[in-house]
Amino acid sequence: MAPSVQEMFLQYHSKYGWLRTLRQVIKSQFDDITPLDCTTPETLMASIPTTLSLLPKQARLQNDRKYQSQVLTASRLLLHRNYGKPWIQDVKPYLHIMLPYGRAIARLRVSAHKLEVERRRYHNQVAREGRLCQDCALLDQVVVEDEEHVALDCPSWARWRDGMIKAAGLDQSTLSRKQFMAAMMDPKPGEALAVGAFWHRVFGKVDKRWT
Ligand SMILES: [Zn+2]
Repeated sequence: MAPSVQEMFLQYHSKYGWLRTLRQVIKSQFDDITPLDCTTPETLMASIPTTLSLLPKQARLQNDRKYQSQVLTASRLLLHRNYGKPWIQDVKPYLHIMLPYGRAIARLRVSAHKLEVERRRYHNQVAREGRLCQDCALLDQVVVEDEEHVALDCPSWARWRDGMIKAAGLDQSTLSRKQFMAAMMDPKPGEALAVGAFWHRVFGKVDKRWT
């Protein structure tokens, strides 16, 4: 049997009443909705159906707002998959950027690329010290082409590298080589897009070398 108006009013004023809980939930979850009007039993009765009818639309509006605020910078796939769910904040930032850039950082992290240090591991199984940077060999420099060489030293990538450092706001003077490589592998939210774009371009060019 439905509770009478007076019963509902009393439920609101009890410490553990469900009406009070409902009001708290509305207040904490919805930005633009006035929680139930509990001034008198009559205003309460009138405000329950109107308030409840507004909630689904308001929930969709809030989701859309959150979606639109991230759609230009975050991975669309992740946004679509997480639409309407609680937003996961502690996922690695590189997983939230656009797909090809996030994938480039993932490739860097698991050595799934064709820089000489990896390619020569399988092609003729050359010892590590023999997996040389071919660009630097033309300049009579004998140096292994590994991720650190590309990220920090190789003149071939200097222009893209300088652009990335500038766009990501990295301060090379305060970072050790190890810290710089850590920023490449696990960039902070503000750095992830520029770092990912850099590796995307590098791997894109390296992939074409032997095709
Ligand atoms: Zn080089």
